[in-house]
Amino acid sequence: MIDAECSSGSTLPIAPDSEPILRTIAQPLAPAQIIQPEVQHFLAAMLATMRHHLGVGLAAPQVYQPWRIVMLECDRNPRYPEAEPVPLQIWLNPELLAISAERSGFVEGCLSVTGRRGEIWRPTQVAIGGYQPTGEYHTAELSGFAARIIQHELDHLNGIVFTDYLP
Ligand code: ZN
Repeated sequence: MIDAECSSGSTLPIAPDSEPILRTIAQPLAPAQIIQPEVQHFLAAMLATMRHHLGVGLAAPQVYQPWRIVMLECDRNPRYPEAEPVPLQIWLNPELLAISAERSGFVEGCLSVTGRRGEIWRPTQVAIGGYQPTGEYHTAELSGFAARIIQHELDHLNGIVFTDYLP
């Protein structure tokens, strides 16, 4: 299964925000598909790509694959030097199950958007459900930077780029 050792493979090209794939609704995987080599190899390449570009999150459409897959990880990231660490999480067919009423603002960037950042307000806590790379279904409550990242990445699965929220 996916782990750090798998992440040293080749990287994938990043779609810039002018690409139509970032404006389409990504498709769910069949649960039985998740443990197949095609998907496992893709997850390894996606992880290598996120780390290579110092991303704290990545959604599959950003590497030209219209599947509902997101991953997040932050470990002393120079693009977000003030951010708290977030251990690696990979979600397939992720669903937002609940959001907090409390919101906060944070200046976001995106690997698909060069040269622009902007403050986005989002719920500070979310509950999420989805499949793991093992094929198991999990739920989790995320807060802080993890909640921030996953909402940004879930937007990518629905054709939304953070700049859509900016004036
Ligand atoms: Zn993004």
